[in-house]
Amino acid sequence: MTERFLNIVNGAPVASGSGHWFDSANPYDGKVWSQIPHCDTADVNAAVASAHAAYNTGPWATMTATQRGKLLRRLGDLIARDAEKLAQLEVRDNGKLYAEMLGQVKYLPEYYHYFGGLADKIEGSVLPTDKPEMFSYTKHEPLGVVVCITPWNSPLLLLTWKLAALLAAGNTAVIKPSEITSAATLAFLALFKEAGFPDGVVNSVTGFGHEIGAALVEHPQVAKVAFTGGDATGRAVYQGAAKGLKHVSLELGGKSPNIIFDDANLDDAVKGAISGIFAASGQTCIAGSRLLVQRSVYDEVSERVTAFAATAQLGDPMQASTQVGPITTRPQRQKVLDYIEIAKNEGARCLLGGKTPEAADLAEGWFVEPTIFADVSNDMRIAREEVFGPVLSIIPFEDEADAIRIANDTIYGLAAGVWTTSMRRAIRMADALKAGTVWVNTYRAVSVMAPFGGMKQSGIGRENGQEAIREFLQTKCVWLNLADGVPNPFVMR
Ligand code: NDP
Repeated sequence: MTERFLNIVNGAPVASGSGHWFDSANPYDGKVWSQIPHCDTADVNAAVASAHAAYNTGPWATMTATQRGKLLRRLGDLIARDAEKLAQLEVRDNGKLYAEMLGQVKYLPEYYHYFGGLADKIEGSVLPTDKPEMFSYTKHEPLGVVVCITPWNSPLLLLTWKLAALLAAGNTAVIKPSEITSAATLAFLALFKEAGFPDGVVNSVTGFGHEIGAALVEHPQVAKVAFTGGDATGRAVYQGAAKGLKHVSLELGGKSPNIIFDDANLDDAVKGAISGIFAASGQTCIAGSRLLVQRSVYDEVSERVTAFAATAQLGDPMQASTQVGPITTRPQRQKVLDYIEIAKNEGARCLLGGKTPEAADLAEGWFVEPTIFADVSNDMRIAREEVFGPVLSIIPFEDEADAIRIANDTIYGLAAGVWTTSMRRAIRMADALKAGTVWVNTYRAVSVMAPFGGMKQSGIGRENGQEAIREFLQTKCVWLNLADGVPNPFVMR
């Protein structure tokens, strides 16, 4: 029995205007479990019109920032109430572990509480200008309609990173989730009405990026596009937004180095290497997919990481005992398997995995065994391109300078890990690494309070932390003439 989910437009649940649907399948058993409205450009136009009207007229436009903050905090409480249901929907959509999804969804209220609190603390300034007869001040105003485009790996978390900040700033939104994982997003959007948000503040369209993406991004009533996804799509979004000179923030991919020095606590470093790559079956933008290991401990670390990874329990993501779940889509699994073949052909040495598992209970799901390659050099494709799967490349380095050179030799700059017991080395490395986030003796720490985003081709802009709200504001400067009268404009002073 398939479940049908509906979009929200102008506060009402709606199917697509054409009445068409598309299927969504569960990655664990490959079976269709839900149907999602298949939207076209007419649906895009309706959703944007709704967001535009809500931005310009009606209760949202005149609401105080404190009232907006209260709505956001109420929404956070509703998410906490429904966390289990939302997490279950995410698992059915993307196949990630229930334990991980539940943890993520239970953390979401923090974002709505944090940014709800920030809403009425957006302060302008009085400017000490060099014109004594003038009084001037700045204020920070919302942009207007923001389109949020999200990927399939952590749909609600990555949507929340945009939505909490943009709503706190006073914008309205049109959301396009990945067509692979729309169900949890649509169930979540139904909570806005209950929280008391005015109709039209948050709207959604579901469907395929290649069909409705350009219409959304290029719509003349859209002021900003906030995107998370792959770098190729990010480029298309950037180009589309450029036609209307729109604001854009992009959270893109990575090929993050996780660097183990020979002075590291190797027990910790091995655990950090494993969680860096095998969490979410490697389908995370921050995956530490390049494990750089100092030559003097290279063999030992390679053996220990391989032995640890070999203990991973693959299985049903809903079961608490499962440690590695399936890949989210069949084409993505094929892409991962193709990269494994590329790595073998390039001469990388396969230490573990490298294929789909043979166990009968995993046959219907889209699994790939945790895979480790040694003797990888940084010019191989497996070290340069984002695989987005459970595939680790171990690359040797000689010394600190060599580690920095290899780590930064990538088009990406999302994150990096450093394992060392030397504080001086840790700080030197944090300075030298070209990445938006650097972790020392840990990996994957993120917080609502800490800015996140990429350098180089990993993105533009920052999410989370106080500066995130600035991404959804524009500054206005106001001048008031305090002088008695206005001078003759033809007389230069
Ligand atoms: P994609 O880039 O394929 O898709 C992302 C979103 O863009 C989807 O909603 C997709 O819709 C949509 N889209 C596709 N084509 C267009 C278009 N022409 N115009 C507008 N929108 C379009 O990424 P994936 O969903 O495959 O997600 C994986 C990627 O996301 C990885 O590269 C990963 O690194 C990155 N990512 C980055 C994060 C970060 O914070 N930096 C965090 C998590 C993931 P549809 O699905 O219908 O095609």
